[in-house]
Formats: sequence, structure tokens, C-alpha cells
Amino acid sequence: LIYHETDATLGPLDEKIVAVVGYGNQGRAQARNMCDSGVDVIVGNREDGSHEQATADGFEVYSIADATARADVVLLLIPDEVQPEIYQRDIGPNLEAGDTLVFASGYNVTYERIDPADGIDVVLVAPRMIGTVVRELYEDGRGAPALLAVEQDASGAAQSRALAVAHAVGATRSGVVETEFETETRTDLMSEQGLFPVFASALLARFEVETEAGVPPAVTLLESYLSREMAHIFEKCATQGIVSQMDLHSQTSQYGQLLGLSEFDREPIREFMRERLAAIDSGEFADEWADEQASGYERLSSLREGYESSEFIETEQATLDAFGLRKD
Ligand code: NDP
Repeated sequence: LIYHETDATLGPLDEKIVAVVGYGNQGRAQARNMCDSGVDVIVGNREDGSHEQATADGFEVYSIADATARADVVLLLIPDEVQPEIYQRDIGPNLEAGDTLVFASGYNVTYERIDPADGIDVVLVAPRMIGTVVRELYEDGRGAPALLAVEQDASGAAQSRALAVAHAVGATRSGVVETEFETETRTDLMSEQGLFPVFASALLARFEVETEAGVPPAVTLLESYLSREMAHIFEKCATQGIVSQMDLHSQTSQYGQLLGLSEFDREPIREFMRERLAAIDSGEFADEWADEQASGYERLSSLREGYESSEFIETEQATLDAFGLRKD
């Protein structure tokens, strides 16, 4: 099911106070979009930089516990790994029957890290876009697509409330797909664990092969992604389609791309992805990640340090500086 602008109204949020808990990437964008859509938005944040930012943006800012207690609809927009603890301490005890709890990620519900009380609506509105672009698109009269799901419908109005939130954030301007929390979790984690490592491995493999063959490393890196030509090609893939965008390339390029693609053996990639998906579905990854957090992120730090000190990344960083390509 896909919902568009004409399928939704703000009606289910009439007379309701919406609390955005967390004023970071998604929180700031979604709070500002909803406010500009005419929704009564308050912010819940601990006292620090984001608190000041929300105040400077014109919001009434409360502690997370107070904002939750004042609101009818609560958007949980703090990082997934801190949500269970903050939920347990500040949010769960301040939600009342009839309130709506809105997640932007399926993770903590899928893996039962958060188990809201029975009288509360539990829904998902998950933009498929980083926060800054959620805001930019909205200001431009457009919106980022989003996934919507209902896990618990205590009021009988959970779905229409979720759709109203998606509408207020600007997502129905593009399209809102109704799905389940588990599907959001699986596909989100597969982008991170299945797809990204394959992309990055292709870049690494090319670097290794061309460096061995005597190509200057900076030339390989500029050609691969640092010049941003590849980013523009991906942009065209997303707006025209993978094959249609080939019209923008020479026939030599088209023949080479299509020939390479048709001769490539995808089975090892499929096998890698099947293994990742199995660990996601069984909860093995979620358990490993919980252990990693409990042990102080030791493995995460050592993996990151290993790549940061590799020849590939050191060359990448030097090339960014040498060509003035660095940008926040
Ligand atoms: P951020 O990392 O940007 O969240 C930062 C906010 O969380 C800040 O307000 C920060 O407060 C607060 N926060 C961080 N740690 C704590 C803590 N221990 N206690 C209280 N508050 C804390 O999160 P995102 O916006 O990236 O993600 C929010 C949700 O949106 C997640 O569920 C995520 O999966 C989902 N999502 C994210 C997307 C993205 O593009 N990033 C895309 C789609 C969904 P302070 O300023 O005090 O640090």
C-alpha cells in the first residue's frame, strides 16, 4: 500500500501535542517540518547543545520525561542504542493510555528491547532519507519517502495517526509505504551490512588491483568516487533508472558496463547477503551488538582504527586534501 498527499490529513493530530524526543539529525528536521505544517510541536531533550538549538529554533523545550508527560504523540528520535534505557527511565512511565508512540526505526521493537504498555498506540514513521535532506526537500515543496507500520493499535486510530505524522513531516508528498516493523529493520540493516560492504569492497578491490598494476593511487581514487562522477551516476540511477541513465555515457562505456555486468558472478555476493540476513533475522547480530555496547565498543574501535590506518584510507584522505575536495 502506498499513500500520497490526498490519502492523508492532519485531522488525527487536531488538539494534540506532539513531542519530538531528541533534536538531532531526524529530530530537528521532523520537528521543524511538522511545526511548519501547523502541528503543535514541543521538544524533549537533555540540557545541552541540542537543547539550545531547539530553543533557538523557537520550540518550547522540556526534559524528555516532562515533554512525554505533556504530549499525546511522542516521536522517539534519539539513537537506537540509547532508546531502551531512556524509554525505561523517562518515557514509559510518562505515557498514558491513548497516547501514540512513534518510532523512526523498527530495531528496538523487532528485537523486543522496548515493550510498550498495552494501552498505547505503537507506530513507525521512518523516512528513507537523512535528516538534513528531509528538511531541505520539505522547504523545497517536496518530501522524502517513508515507511509506515502499526505494531499496536490500542485506540483504533493508530494507522490514521501515523499517516498524519507522515503527512506533517512531508513524506506523503513523495509516497508512504505501509509495511511491518520487522521489514523496516531487516531492510535497514541489510543496507548497512549487506549492501554497503559490497560497494566498499568493490572500491577496495579496484584499488588493490590497479595499485599492483602501477596506476597512481590518487588517479584510481578520483576515478572511483572522489571526483563525485560516480555519485552523479548514482543520482541518475535513482532518478532515471540504471539502464536508462546509460544514455548519458558513450557507447563504448555502455557496452563495457553491460558486458561486465552480464559476465559477473553474483553468487558469492548472494551467499554473503544470505548469511547477513540470516544473522539479522535470528537476532544473532542484535545480540552481538548488545554485547559490543556492554563491553565499551572495543571491537568497533579496533575495526575503525584498522581501516583508518590502511593504505587505502590514508591515500583517500591525502587525495581529498590535495584536490581541495573535503566538505562537511
Ligand atoms: P541522532 O544521533 O542525531 O540523535 C541525537 C539526539 O539524541 C540529540 O538530541 C541527542 O541529545 C539525543 N541523545 C543522544 N544520546 C542521548 C542519551 N544518552 N540520552 C538522551 N538523549 C540522547 O539520531 P538520529 O536522528 O540519527 O536517529 C534518530 C532515530 O531516527 C533513530 O531511531 C534512527 O534509527 C532513525 N533514523 C535515522 C535516520 C538518519 O538519517 N540518521 C534515517 C531514518 C531513521 P544531545 O544533543 O544531548 O546529545
